[in-house]
Amino acid sequence: MCLFCKIVDKKIPANIELESDDFMAFHDINPKAPVHILAIPKLHVDSFNEVSAQTMGGMTAFIQELTKKLAIDKSGYRVITNVGENGGQEVKHLHWHVLGGSKLKWDHLADADPKDFL
Ligand code: AMP
Repeated sequence: MCLFCKIVDKKIPANIELESDDFMAFHDINPKAPVHILAIPKLHVDSFNEVSAQTMGGMTAFIQELTKKLAIDKSGYRVITNVGENGGQEVKHLHWHVLGGSKLKWDHLADADPKDFL
C-alpha cells in the first residue's frame, strides 16, 4: 500500500483540511509556501498519466471548494502535479500541490538551459 493510500486509510496521520467521499486534502509535511496542501483522489491512481476525465471533473470541483475554504481563491494560487522522473514525482499516487498564501515565484524550472533548445 502506498504512502498516500495509508493516509486515506488513516493508518498514517495527516493534517486533513478537507475530505469528501472520493477526495482528500491534507497539509504537505514540507511546505514550500504559506499554504501548501496536497489534494488526492482516495482511489489509487499512479499519476496524471492514468487519471480519468471523470476523476478530473471531481478533482476540479474539490480543489475549487478547497481554495475557497482556505480563502486563497481571490488572492490567487498555483495547482501543480508532478509526473514521473523528469516531473520530480516522488510519491506515486496522483496528488495536486495547491500553493498560495503569498506571491509565488515563477523561476527557471529545468536543469537544462532552455536557451540550448531554441
Ligand atoms: P511530489 O514530489 O510531487 O511527489 O510530492 C510529494 C510531496 O509529498 C512532497 O511535497 C512531500 O513533502 C509530501 N509528503 C511526503 N510525505 C508526506 C506525509 N506523510 N504527509 C504529508 N505530505 C507528505
